Amino acid sequence: MPWCDTCDRLVDDDQVTDEGHCPTCDSKIVAGPKEPMPWRFRLMIIATVIYLGWRAYQGVEWLVHR
Ligand SMILES: [Zn+2]
Repeated sequence: MPWCDTCDRLVDDDQVTDEGHCPTCDSKIVAGPKEPMPWRFRLMIIATVIYLGWRAYQGVEWLVHR
């Protein structure tokens, strides 16, 4: 999925101009596997991992103390 750094959002493949520019701000769009993962997405994954770890810890403690 093409990502526009300037607009900080994903751009639909069919919205990207023929030159590979963003339809909104007309800046060059980086696409393909070289594109870095959006930091918001990374943050979401980290938050999910922390939450699941916390829930697992709570579950273990509940088992130990019952
Ligand atoms: Zn843009």
